[in-house]
Amino acid sequence: MHEMSLCESILQILQDEARAKGFQRVREVCLEIGELASVEPEALRFGFDVVMRGSLADGARLRIEPVAGAAWCMACSNRVALPRRGDPCPRCGSHQLQVLAGDAMRIKELEVN
Ligand SMILES: [Zn+2]
Repeated sequence: MHEMSLCESILQILQDEARAKGFQRVREVCLEIGELASVEPEALRFGFDVVMRGSLADGARLRIEPVAGAAWCMACSNRVALPRRGDPCPRCGSHQLQVLAGDAMRIKELEVN
C-alpha cells in the first residue's frame, strides 16, 4: 500500500516546515489529491492516523480536496475532463491526450500552532 509511504513523505514535509517556520504542532492538514494521482483517499486517511501517531501531527485532522483530472486532446484540440487515466477523449474518442491537471498530490494548507 503506497499510501503509507505517501504519509511518511507528508510527515517529513511537516517536520521540515516545523523547523523552518518554528511551529510545534500541526492541527490540520489540507491535501489536494488529483483524480489521476492513483491515491485512495480512504487508505490515505488510515495511513495518516497511523503514521502521525506520536509525531507533531498526532491527532491532526486531514482534509482532502479532490482535483478533477483534465487533459488536452491533441486530435481535436480541446481541453477535456479526464476522470480516469486511459479513458479516451469524451469529444472525439482519441487517446492522444496530454494530462494537464489532476495527476498530483500536494499539501495545500496547514493549520499549526
Ligand atoms: Zn478529442
